[in-house]
This record gives sequence, C-alpha cells and structure tokens, in this order.
Amino acid sequence: MNSVKIGWAGLGNMGTPMVKNLLNAGFSVEVFNRSRDKEHEAIEAGAQSAADLRVLAEDNDIIFVMVSDDAAVKDIFNSDTGLLSGEVSGKLFINVSTVSPDTSKLLDEWCCNKGAAFLEAPVSGSVKPAQDATLIFMIGGDAADFERAKPVLERLGKLHVHVGAAGTGSAAKLAINYLLGLNLQGLAETVLFANANGVKTEDMLTIVNEGAIGNGITKLKSASILSNNFPAAFALKHLAKDVRLATEQGMNTPLSKPLYESFTQARDSGLGDEDVMAIIKYLQR
Ligand code: NAP
Repeated sequence: MNSVKIGWAGLGNMGTPMVKNLLNAGFSVEVFNRSRDKEHEAIEAGAQSAADLRVLAEDNDIIFVMVSDDAAVKDIFNSDTGLLSGEVSGKLFINVSTVSPDTSKLLDEWCCNKGAAFLEAPVSGSVKPAQDATLIFMIGGDAADFERAKPVLERLGKLHVHVGAAGTGSAAKLAINYLLGLNLQGLAETVLFANANGVKTEDMLTIVNEGAIGNGITKLKSASILSNNFPAAFALKHLAKDVRLATEQGMNTPLSKPLYESFTQARDSGLGDEDVMAIIKYLQR
C-alpha cells in the first residue's frame, strides 16, 4: 500500500476510471461525489467514501477534483462547506477538471490563503485513455508541488507537461480542445458533404482514415458515426463549454466563432449529454 493518502471529488465518466487506476497502483483513495450513488463503482473497487468534502480534505494528503465546469469546481472548493472549510494547511489540491485560466488562478489563491498548495492538471484524452492511464496532463503551478504530485500523476497518464504557473495549464487545455472541436466539426462536415454527393459513409471514413489526413480522433470516432450511436465518452456539453472558455479567453480567429456557435446550438438542441461526435447529428438536421 502506498503511504500517500488520496482524496477524490467527482466520479463522472473520467473520475471513476482514474480512481480505479490509483487503487490498482496501491494507493488508499477516499471519494466523494455529489450524487452519492455514483460512488458505488469506486467503492466496489476498494475506495472509501468520505462523509463530506471537509472530511475528504482533512483525511488525505493530496486531493483531486474532477467535475464538470468552473461553477462546479468553485462549489467543491468553497470555504463554507467545501474542501477548504476545514484545516487544510500542507495539503496539495489538484484540479483536473477543465476550467478557465482565471478560475485556476482563483483556486490557487484560495488554497494559498489556507496554507495549502494547488496545482491545475487538466487532461487531454477521454474515457479510454483514462482507463488505460495514458492521459496527457497539462500542469500549471509550482515545480516543487509538481514533483510532489508526480508519483501519483504517473499512475494516471503517459505524459505530464509542466507548462508554467497556475492558469497556463488551463490555457493549454483550451487550446488543444479547440483543435479537437475543429477536427470533429471538420470530420462531420466532410462525411455529410460526401453523403450528399453519393459517397457512402463507410467509404468516406476509409478514405480519411487510411490517408495522411486521418488521425487518432477520426479513427476513434468512426465507429460511432457508422452506427449513428453516440453514448457520451466526452459529453458534447463539455466541449461547448471549452470552446466558450477559449473565446472568453480571447480566441478570436476566423473559425472560432462558427465553431462556438455550432457546438452551442448543438447542445441547446438537446444533444448536450451525447458524445461530442453527435455534432454530426446536429449538422445533419
Ligand atoms: P461527467 O461525466 O459529466 O461528470 C461530471 C461530474 O461533475 C459528476 O461527478 C458531477 O456530479 C459533478 N458535478 C457537476 N456539477 C457539480 C456541482 N455543482 N457540485 C459538485 N459536483 C458537480 O464529466 P466528465 O466527462 O467526467 O468530465 C469531467 C471534467 O473533465 C470536465 O471538466 C470535462 O470538460 C473534462 N474532461 C472530460 C473528458 C472526457 O472525455 N469525458 C476528457 C478531458 C477532460 P453528479 O454525479 O452529482 O452530477
């Protein structure tokens, strides 16, 4: 058993497989999820359940947060009933959710005011890389805190890039997800254009994936396009959020506005809880 005690808040699509990897690596992990029934899978795998967020923080050395968005992260960290409500001096908090650089800087300040350390460590990669511990982490924060977290982070991902101070990791994450959005939108438009001109979906995907233009994401999402079935690995609403955060952060390029509108309208049309590749269903309409 590894002696570092881990706390984990947020057991959605990403949090649960990441916790299971830490348990498999021999860490003691205590968990908390707002909807307590979603803790079941982690508990079955050997995690303990914390009574509340204050206890989760006080019981453990390193506390991870993996929840939806900026508002959720602020709810979790708050100093009234959240992680920072008790005695947390010397603890290390790591936010792995995707949030704005400004929110990361605020969390850093909140933790610092309580005598605790903070790292942002958003991830690139979806549920399969989370299960396989092949995520890519973009780290923002002090180098010494990164060194402290490394033995744990190494059990969750294949690459850990220390980008700079708090805020820079989130900026890197928004940048990579902008490129993800462009890829998904481009693949959907390509397939629909081909279809409209008499080319079968299967043939078009083969042409894309066997050539230089095919990439990890076009290959990964081809099966869902072919089956027209989009269970969420990465919910479309989360990418809509990420593209919004990028535009709020100053992204103002020829493709950023239409990309933002496309994913926002797709989410608002009822596709938010389906996978990001469901953008093709929205464009089809
Ligand atoms: P998810 O499956 O939708 O889970 C969201 C989690 O956030 C749930 O545990 C949910 O709790 C919790 N939550 C939401 N609002 C909350 C609040 N106000 N207070 C407390 N908890 C709250 O999301 P996910 O796919 O795991 O993604 C989590 C984060 O990782 C997001 O920031 C996403 O952008 C990022 N990300 C996701 C992927 C991916 O492929 N899925 C990849 C890279 C990064 P309940 O169960 O109570 O609703």
